[in-house]
Amino acid sequence: MKTVRPAAAHLKDLQPYDPKYLPARVYLNANESPYGMSEKARAEFLRMLADEPMHRYPDPLAKELRKAVADKLGLAPDNIVVGNGGDELLFNLCLAYGGRGRSLLIAPPTFSAYQTDALLSYTTLIEVPRAATVDSEGALDFSIDEAAILECVSSGNNDIVMLTSPNNPTGDCLSLEFISELLAATDAVVLIDQAYIEFADPRYDATALLKDHANLAILRTFSKAYGLAGLRIAYVAAGREITDELCKVRQPYSVDSLSALAALAALAEDAEVQQQVKSIVAERERLTRLLGPEGLGLPLTKSEANFFLVRVPNAQTIWQRLYDEYSILVRDLSALPRLADCLRVSIGTPEENDEFIQALSKELRVKR
Ligand code: PMP
Repeated sequence: MKTVRPAAAHLKDLQPYDPKYLPARVYLNANESPYGMSEKARAEFLRMLADEPMHRYPDPLAKELRKAVADKLGLAPDNIVVGNGGDELLFNLCLAYGGRGRSLLIAPPTFSAYQTDALLSYTTLIEVPRAATVDSEGALDFSIDEAAILECVSSGNNDIVMLTSPNNPTGDCLSLEFISELLAATDAVVLIDQAYIEFADPRYDATALLKDHANLAILRTFSKAYGLAGLRIAYVAAGREITDELCKVRQPYSVDSLSALAALAALAEDAEVQQQVKSIVAERERLTRLLGPEGLGLPLTKSEANFFLVRVPNAQTIWQRLYDEYSILVRDLSALPRLADCLRVSIGTPEENDEFIQALSKELRVKR
């Protein structure tokens, strides 16, 4: 046989995910932690690793980690499902609650995986776009359209709502008042993706809403504040109705034993993670001042995450120059709807951030 039959029809126009990775000196492109695991957490991980029987399959639900996460959040272990990164859990939620004739509501611009997961699971995507304006202080404003979302779910036709707080790439958060209102207005599963919550004001932490809302699921990951993006480990916190369904669709061994151990070690050294978060947040505020009205005068988002979105003239050229001349990699989002001339920049170490600011200032002065 010299040919192969076509793949499933819904893959026809789908492109494989491309993180736009390029080798660089300064990585400010993927919202990773610039620090990684603390020395103590790493030492503890390596100690546990030495005793790990790697010829045995891992515990499918990573019981120990599940319990540690549950204890941290004041929940029961049954309220936690671990996954191979948030990416897997988002897809699993679509497998469990999406499908033909069912729908997923999102608020773009947002994390691109939601759209792909809808397509792969034959779920109809409903988009309620965010604002894309500049506020009275000159900041980029991508506020969610709360009224339009409430109006949309009032039809009773939604199966899943995925909203992001803080949102990627805009960095803004949803108020708990709005989330409560939404949860009360629908029986759809409302997934609040809090991959970046550690960097946000604590008033945006949605876990307190879990006790009153069976339709709430919260996504958290070890990839960002906990510095474990390379290992792929995340979790959903939700009521039993939802976690039981997620357990049915998950790949039994998607979480390997090493990732679970690393997450346990990272959680045990939480105080150090909080120190790193504090310095990243301080750097975010410093960069915001340097780029905003009192500095370079660029419109940028008021971000609650470990990145911000900034609008620069000729973003594509600036992106290229930052890479070619300084080996600084940021994320060019300028080709996406509502994000014309926008670059997303992750917060790095103070030295990396200084390099970025100096390079950008220099490039902005070049007449093009
Ligand atoms: N949610 C959001 C909003 C993200 O930006 C990301 C990572 N880019 C994820 C979830 C998934 O993260 P991970 O798979 O590394 O846990």
